[in-house]
Amino acid sequence: MIRPHRVGVMNIPVLAGVSWLRSARALSGELVDVALAGGVIAQVIPATGTRLPGDEDLSGQVLLPAFAEPHAHLDKALTASRAPNPAGDLLGAIEAMQGIAGSLTHADIVARAEKAIRIHLALGTTSVRTHVNVGGPMGMRALTALVEVRERWRGLVDVQVVALVSHPMAGQAGQDLRRALKEGADVAGGCPHLDPDPDGAVGICLDAAGEAGVPMDLHTDETLNPRKLTLATMADLVTRTGFPHQVTASHCVSLGVQDGRTQQRVSEAVAAARIAVVALPQTNLYLQGRDHPAATPRGLTAVAALRQAGATVAAGGDNLRDPFHPVGRGDALEVAALMVTCGHLDPAAALESVTAAPRAVLGLPPARIAPGCPADLVALPGGDALEALGAASAHRTVWRAGRVVARTTVHAEISSPRQAEPSQLEGAAR
Ligand SMILES: [Zn+2]
Repeated sequence: MIRPHRVGVMNIPVLAGVSWLRSARALSGELVDVALAGGVIAQVIPATGTRLPGDEDLSGQVLLPAFAEPHAHLDKALTASRAPNPAGDLLGAIEAMQGIAGSLTHADIVARAEKAIRIHLALGTTSVRTHVNVGGPMGMRALTALVEVRERWRGLVDVQVVALVSHPMAGQAGQDLRRALKEGADVAGGCPHLDPDPDGAVGICLDAAGEAGVPMDLHTDETLNPRKLTLATMADLVTRTGFPHQVTASHCVSLGVQDGRTQQRVSEAVAAARIAVVALPQTNLYLQGRDHPAATPRGLTAVAALRQAGATVAAGGDNLRDPFHPVGRGDALEVAALMVTCGHLDPAAALESVTAAPRAVLGLPPARIAPGCPADLVALPGGDALEALGAASAHRTVWRAGRVVARTTVHAEISSPRQAEPSQLEGAAR
């Protein structure tokens, strides 16, 4: 059952340049007409049945806020065929990517990143935070490529670039991070759980982010090893230092294997530090648990404990057909469905985890179907939001700032069962 909340109705004088979306099904279940003007939602009213030239008829479709992707790897996207990962685990994936590093030219990275952006946009995602490998064999090559991509897509898809440095953070990686933040990265990143000094690595990253005045988003505890819990260190450091920028902890797998009391204690510290957590079900279901053939753990973070403590929990797609996750459609509704199936969220919360929550992670204004909110929207077939989420048709229309920026049409032709002859029907009745 989708939780009902009423559609906001506000009478705003109709402006020149207004466009109307007619008879759309809102999350609440109500049928509404929605006026767009000046890049925002100007008016939401109960459906009137009006159809004027230029109106968009959304009968039979559900209208949702556009999706936001809080955690992608556009520099690695679409390399699965080139970089097989037979082990299927995290280290196998890292080695597979290192094996093709030489072929990852500037042009190759730009082409794949832009293809991945088009896949996301067609399915309704208008903002993407991507981590980009910095240092080691990649140097600054992927960062330069993604900064170029970010600038080219500005106004159509918001791209944020996180400098994902290697380790040890106390050595070259820390210097790489500072350089990347000077050369165009928007957010400080890293993988403290792989560092010889995980807690120290968190501190170095936080210092670098603070000096640059940018948010921090770390790959955090992407392991089932319960002894690695840098999330607790992160919460403690952020609270003690009063770090003023947004902090995100991505993955947080090991929190999911702690006992209930530890989950609660750490989740409360995370919420108090205002750290947002990004769950990444596809990649973690794929990579984690391969050495646990019985009662295989899911590799998800402690979604329920974090939400119970009041922390923001967003969900992302992470890897799009690369050695870290060789399948996937780049669809936020695929992620939301996994948050229902594996994260045990109710459908409304699952939709929130790919809309409102990631927008908060990215520092974007909230998007709802309500007056004054950005007209970043997606419509797709469904009698209600649950059906739209469950079926996840690729048939979608996507608006950015009130303008249609993607339209995918799905046309199916399906045979009906043959009409039985009257004599056969009689025979069957006997
Ligand atoms: Zn990642």
